[in-house]
Amino acid sequence: MDKPVKPDLQFAKEIIKAGGESLKKCYQCSTCTVVCQLSPDKAPFPRKEMLYAQWGMKEKLFNNPDIWLCHHCGDCTAYCPRGAKPGEVLGAVRKLMIQHYSPPKFLAKWVADPKYLLLLFLFPLLLFLGELAILGYFSGTEIPRGEGGVMAYSAFLPAVPWIDVPFMAIAAFAVICFYLGVKKYWLDLTAGVELKRKDIYNCIYETIKDILLHKKFQFCTSNKGRYSAHMLVLYAFIGLAITTGIAAFYEWVLHWPSPYPQTNIVKIIGNTSGIALLIGMFLVIVNRAKNSAQQGIGSYFDWFLITVIFGVGITGFMAQILRLAEVETLGYASYIVHLVFVFVLFAYAPHSKMAHMVYRATAMVFSKAAMREENIKKEEAA
Ligand code: SF4
Ligand code: SF4
Repeated sequence: MDKPVKPDLQFAKEIIKAGGESLKKCYQCSTCTVVCQLSPDKAPFPRKEMLYAQWGMKEKLFNNPDIWLCHHCGDCTAYCPRGAKPGEVLGAVRKLMIQHYSPPKFLAKWVADPKYLLLLFLFPLLLFLGELAILGYFSGTEIPRGEGGVMAYSAFLPAVPWIDVPFMAIAAFAVICFYLGVKKYWLDLTAGVELKRKDIYNCIYETIKDILLHKKFQFCTSNKGRYSAHMLVLYAFIGLAITTGIAAFYEWVLHWPSPYPQTNIVKIIGNTSGIALLIGMFLVIVNRAKNSAQQGIGSYFDWFLITVIFGVGITGFMAQILRLAEVETLGYASYIVHLVFVFVLFAYAPHSKMAHMVYRATAMVFSKAAMREENIKKEEAA
């Protein structure tokens, strides 16, 4: 016999507070499930998730890959006859899942709460200002210049140890947080489930291919602009990761400190990716504004990430332009602000909306291994 349903109204309230304020309007008509192009016929969503959310059924929501298989295209929200905004409710549940799975819990709460915004930025700011104090820049030490006497951030704050040590530490911190979060989520997903496919590595490979092609986003009908905006941002990040790799090679292997000529491959890839990032983020904001009447403008959690990514791009270009123009004080200040934004982006990645990449990828791998994706409507129709 099925266990009786135990409602948890406190958790339902948490979903409402996290951005799912319309969830009570749902009257279970199932239109959302019918219009959702990503919902497989044999394991449909998001109607049942709306019911779980109304009853505050935390376990049913958290152990559920569908929460992440939803790509927040907004089709269901556009067609819902009651204005219950199922896409937004699922978005709110995802935010709570990040808080639940990514340790340490207090950091996930801080990232989601505007009360702690200053504190999150203050920590890296004090860290880099502390480094400048140790180097004596606040007590009269002259800032060294680079090769040929040009203004150089590598002379102002040498990579070893002032950049590499804190950034390697936050990279290690983020990887550990992601590892622990994903491990816990995977255990919850697979509890009592027999995976039909044993070739997990193939499932991972197929998932990476889906992400790189943004296959699922192409199914979006009501918000087509999301596909190109998301693609631009994804490839901009890949380009910036390649840039960082080449710069590290120059620094550690060739012992060639920056600045590099604007025509060098590292600058070409870096600047092209930076421009793609800013255009992609601009399109993200335009799309949000365009669809705000139906879907709302987004929560603080969404805007935290958008602002931080924008901050990384804008301050990166500002620091570069000011360096080329040899505007020293403003240039060094922009560089420090840029480092603070990069720190915030990566150190809090497991706790911000950035974590969606990792948890969604995990749900996609599970879904392939459990063969739940076999009959996605759009693929069937194709
Ligand atoms: S969310 Fe809207 S479309 Fe979906 S079942 Fe509820 S009322 Fe119907
Ligand atoms: S937002 Fe899009 S993907 Fe998510 S449940 Fe609604 S229709 Fe499906």
